[in-house]
Amino acid sequence: MIQPLGGAGTVRPIVAANWKMNGLRRDSRDLAKGLARLKQASGDLACDIIVCPPTTLLFELRDVFYDAEIALGGQDAHDQKKGAHTGDISSEMLVDSGCSYVILGHSERRADHGESSETVATKARAALAAGLKVIICVGESEAERDAGQALDAVGAQLINSLPEEGRSNDIVVAYEPVWAIGTGRIPDAAQIGEMHQHIRQLFKELKSGDVSGLRVLYGGSVKAENAGDILPIEGVDGALIGGASLSVKKFWEICVFYGQ
Ligand code: PEP
Repeated sequence: MIQPLGGAGTVRPIVAANWKMNGLRRDSRDLAKGLARLKQASGDLACDIIVCPPTTLLFELRDVFYDAEIALGGQDAHDQKKGAHTGDISSEMLVDSGCSYVILGHSERRADHGESSETVATKARAALAAGLKVIICVGESEAERDAGQALDAVGAQLINSLPEEGRSNDIVVAYEPVWAIGTGRIPDAAQIGEMHQHIRQLFKELKSGDVSGLRVLYGGSVKAENAGDILPIEGVDGALIGGASLSVKKFWEICVFYGQ
């Protein structure tokens, strides 16, 4: 049973949904409406809610989410505004579809599309210029964790994925251990706390002290049953949720951790 936190800390936390490549129009509209109804009935939660559906659903769902003050996000964006890039989508197009956020550098994009951290930084620069806030994902592999290299691996990813541009208010970092995504396994509280502190410290150094608006999310097998253990960890400013975000009930049970 999740205990409400009872108020925001220094930054307003985020609960973000990553629907990945899931959803056709009719079912997704039901999912979005269900979430919007709960949000509208709940008054003001002490967190921001962001939903990142597949690109095909952005236009379909934007009004439903807009009315409920749920932010819309893309799952990736090209670093160019337009041009000969078949199958890609630009940050301008995401803005045009109602998005205010974009996820960049998710481990599935790094693995499936060979995205390097340098590419992520270039995309982030373009997204910020288009007026989007960016959610930059970093996370170690299981081999790196086992070898005691998790902090170094994530640190290197962050250093190379962060663009020079952008203030802490506009950049969200999601710590997502690759081995925890979709597996039901999660790091222990000390490991999560240590990593979030490491990310915050590095960000502060890279951004010349500007860290006050930064939100560092945890992602990887978050569900209602473990949200009460993860979200109160010091330095955890919310969560990025994959599987559990495809159910209104499961996702909402995580959101209400931040009070109702
Ligand atoms: C994700 O892919 O961003 C994610 C956190 O997935 P899951 O919650 O399913 O582990």
